[in-house]
Amino acid sequence: GIPQVAIVGRPNVGKSSLLNWLAGRRVAIVDDKPGITRDRVIYLMHHDERFFELVDTGGMGHMDADELTEDIESQITQAIDSADLILFVVDTRHGLMTMDQEVAKRLRYLKTPILCIANKTDDETFDHAADEFGKLGHGAPLKVSTLQNRGKAVLLNRIAETL
Ligand code: GDP
Ligand code: MG
Repeated sequence: GIPQVAIVGRPNVGKSSLLNWLAGRRVAIVDDKPGITRDRVIYLMHHDERFFELVDTGGMGHMDADELTEDIESQITQAIDSADLILFVVDTRHGLMTMDQEVAKRLRYLKTPILCIANKTDDETFDHAADEFGKLGHGAPLKVSTLQNRGKAVLLNRIAETL
């Protein structure tokens, strides 16, 4: 079948924004209020003579601790079940948070390849902050900004060569 690329990460890091940015159109709902229930969105991508499906695993649940954990669980379970590649999205502007470490821990022993995506690296002044996410143990973070259109070609090439 068509390879699936799952976008995971804690709420509000920019998962839906990332999908829209890569798709080049608004297919997933972006919201600055974290944790609003959204449907899963799948978008068929074509890059470098390859097809793959981008999956926004959504921002289900509410900002309540238990449900957040459930949200992350369901995202990761979905990723484990069907993804050929996982985009682990973190937020350079907010920095490394406990929730990011929880996600990182859950992804640690998977055989599925993982790319750590440091979103909201809006300009060079944030590059150093983005490097901090290397501590999560999923490789050197790829610095991107969906808002400032930074790092798209590098990310798409990495996806294509990893699949
Ligand atoms: P999700 O919950 O992970 O799907 O996050 P969203 O895509 O809904 O985005 C959460 C918030 O982050 C929104 O207010 C976006 O506008 C904002 N956002 C997304 N990407 C960027 C970025 O590259 N830079 C900045 N500064 N904000 C961003
Ligand atoms: Mg979302």
